[in-house]
Amino acid sequence: MADSRKVGVLGGGQLGRMLIEAANRLNIQVNVLDAAASPAKQISAHDGHIEGSFKDASAVKKLAQACDVVTVEIEHVDTHMLEEVAGEVAVEPSWKTLRTIKDKYAQKGYLKEHGVDVAESEDLEGKGAAGLKAVGERFGYPFMLKSKTDAYDGRGNYVVKTADEIDAAVKALGDRPLYAERWADFRMELAVMVVKTKDGVLTFPTVETVHEDSICKLTYAPPRNVSKATTERAQELAKKAIGAFEGKGVFGVEMFLLKDDTLLINEIAPRPHNSGHYTIEACPLSQYDAHLRAILDIPIPPSALRLREPAIMLNILGGKNPDSHIQVTHKAYASPNASIHLYGKGDARPGRKMGHITVTAPSLADAEKEMQPLIDFVDEQKG
Ligand code: ATP
Ligand code: MG
Ligand code: MG
Repeated sequence: MADSRKVGVLGGGQLGRMLIEAANRLNIQVNVLDAAASPAKQISAHDGHIEGSFKDASAVKKLAQACDVVTVEIEHVDTHMLEEVAGEVAVEPSWKTLRTIKDKYAQKGYLKEHGVDVAESEDLEGKGAAGLKAVGERFGYPFMLKSKTDAYDGRGNYVVKTADEIDAAVKALGDRPLYAERWADFRMELAVMVVKTKDGVLTFPTVETVHEDSICKLTYAPPRNVSKATTERAQELAKKAIGAFEGKGVFGVEMFLLKDDTLLINEIAPRPHNSGHYTIEACPLSQYDAHLRAILDIPIPPSALRLREPAIMLNILGGKNPDSHIQVTHKAYASPNASIHLYGKGDARPGRKMGHITVTAPSLADAEKEMQPLIDFVDEQKG
């Protein structure tokens, strides 16, 4: 054993699974708290896993007692139990950070207080349709209605295009705690994976992300038609944002690049992130390697986070047929530079993240040429 410390992870989805792929290479045991056959547990055979929910306080406590460091692959967890166990086991990043970030409205308020530019937002909790109407008058249309909590892949967002849509928007998001965001008329979306270690804050390169129906579809590293000055500015903004939070680990920082070149933070994830999958093949250390090293105080040479070769990542989502994602995989077998990842999730439904493909090549143009037929095929399979 190179390292006898045990890492506990709340959540056993694809991010936990890829974290285990990195841990396995270092002989580091990762104990997962999630359902029995979750994607992460499928690739990790030992008796240290805990069966249960990462939202259940007693299960979180049980995991903490069996580990040296506890981390997360999802922020929608019980942070009160993490606060309680933080005296006995390291919790990375800090439960305080997780508590702030898991509430998207609180997250944005916190960033603003720390001098980080975010889209303007307004609390709508308990204000009903009248609150939305008032915001519409102030922000103009469209504006984005968002759930403060339990939001992912756009499930929790509603674009309110006109005042006539207010009732439908309130109905769609039900009784979730809501806030509104001013529309960001962006030129493109950028993202930066940030690594917070005991010594400081490091960044992976800036990437371009393309979302479709509020779900990440593609990542381009480096971004297309963006100046070096802008990509560096994005890295600095991401560093500043993450520097404001306590704790160690990787963080995903999603940003809007506006038409006048202004950068605004969209949101932060206190964990590995879809926009960082490309690092597995394109960088000397992946976001998963970096997360493990950061939480265990293992050295990270800053240049190990560099881009070795341009890369494009394409998500494999559930499509119109139950086996659409498998068909995409078969198509990708013919592509010589495509690294294919399937997550072991079982049944697909339209829009569910089932896997991803990364193509790296000596130039982004070469990578685009190889990826384009796969993008076209994915578009045909869309549900
Ligand atoms: P994730 O899966 O990344 O956690 P999420 O459900 O938390 O997603 P957001 O990141 O808030 O959702 O939004 C998803 C996408 O919707 C963004 O990437 C962007 O394309 C669009 N979007 C979000 N907020 C705004 C805004 N204020 N103005 C314009 N577009 C927006
Ligand atoms: Mg989110
Ligand atoms: Mg997002």
